[in-house]
Amino acid sequence: MNAPAPKVSFVSLGCPKALVDSERIITQLRAQGYELTKKHDGADVVIVNTCGFLDSAKAESLDAIGQAMAENGRVIVTGCMGAEPEQIRDRFPNILAITGPQAYESVVSAVHEAAPPSHDPFLDLVPDHGVKLTPRHYAYLKISEGCSNRCSFCIIPKLRGDLVSRPAGEVLREAEKLVKAGVKEILVISQDTSAYGVDLKYQPSLWQDREVRTRFFDLARELGNMGVWVRMHYVYPYPHVDEVIPLMAEGKILPYLDIPFQHASPNVLKAMRRPAHQEKTLERVRRWREMCPDLAIRSTFIVGFPGETEDDVDFLLDWLKEAKLDRVGCFRYEPVKGAPANEIGNPVPPEAKDERWHRFMKTQREVSAKLQKAKVGKRLPVIIDEAGPSVAKGRSKYDAPEIDGTVYVASRRPLRAGDIVTVKIERADEYDLHGMAV
Ligand code: SF4
Repeated sequence: MNAPAPKVSFVSLGCPKALVDSERIITQLRAQGYELTKKHDGADVVIVNTCGFLDSAKAESLDAIGQAMAENGRVIVTGCMGAEPEQIRDRFPNILAITGPQAYESVVSAVHEAAPPSHDPFLDLVPDHGVKLTPRHYAYLKISEGCSNRCSFCIIPKLRGDLVSRPAGEVLREAEKLVKAGVKEILVISQDTSAYGVDLKYQPSLWQDREVRTRFFDLARELGNMGVWVRMHYVYPYPHVDEVIPLMAEGKILPYLDIPFQHASPNVLKAMRRPAHQEKTLERVRRWREMCPDLAIRSTFIVGFPGETEDDVDFLLDWLKEAKLDRVGCFRYEPVKGAPANEIGNPVPPEAKDERWHRFMKTQREVSAKLQKAKVGKRLPVIIDEAGPSVAKGRSKYDAPEIDGTVYVASRRPLRAGDIVTVKIERADEYDLHGMAV
């Protein structure tokens, strides 16, 4: 059903500033599902980040472009030499696009045009931005590829293979470069963040002058020392996740966990073959909240999975009332071509799926309303996403971009995207908060 991930080959020349740009482009593309390849041959597109500081550097850049043209032919040029596009066009009239230095947004747009990202809401880890790009103040950091679980409704392992973690040192170097480039919030993503490093047997790798294990806790701890907001997505409720909660309580990483529970009934979870389905999740969530009282949990659920009974739905709704999750999305089950769940049979009729979905949403709305109300009167740190003439749009620590709520911030002084300000919350509606910068 899905085309394989488009492949990008990248050549980065020049000074440390150019390297930061390269890193930013690579991070963005990786998060959008592109695969990086070391060879031009076989890539869908080649990006050459050039240097034009000295004549020798220009010559080296032109050589690199020439090589990419010869080996691939689909080339995007960026960086300092992009400021003088004629020089490049004269020699290589068939270049796909030329953009100037620090224009990473344009490079990513050019890549989208040359090799469109195959957006699939089911497969993708980041919300669909289309041509809209992640603002400069936050970035998705992808820590692994593939997945070693075998959820019965999912074909990601078939498409992307088993889990392949990036060594901790490599991930941390990328994070450090993002921070240097002005990123204020890092969103850690992968198909199964809690499984990070299992494939590498948690092998240590060099970071600064020491060794850091390729392991969820160790990575969280090191990222927590970078002085920016760090948000964890796609974590499963395994016992070892307990270790990370104190980092949240200490304010090292954000008190936020995105856990795709998908269901609560043991029968359905078993049929779904979900990871950690035997863990006592309610107990675990309770313990996490004891350790970190302001922990926010976001999750997604599926209703109408084949074989789901009314009892399963009752179980799920009771669980939901008890778990009091902060943000929740719910989907009606749809079969995915090639997924083992298609063999289960016993489908839930569409009317029943609909009715269950409405019941689910009503239950969660009541939970959310209470949680939202409890925030009124509090002073919360808010990161500004969009400046506005009198009201800016931002997010609290409890809200991830695109998927969670917005905080509308009135302010007497101008606020810029990326500012982190304290906001007194004055009003709450179903999803969003309204307040005043103090
Ligand atoms: S954890 Fe399950 S749903 Fe998620 S990618 Fe792996 S197999 Fe698919």
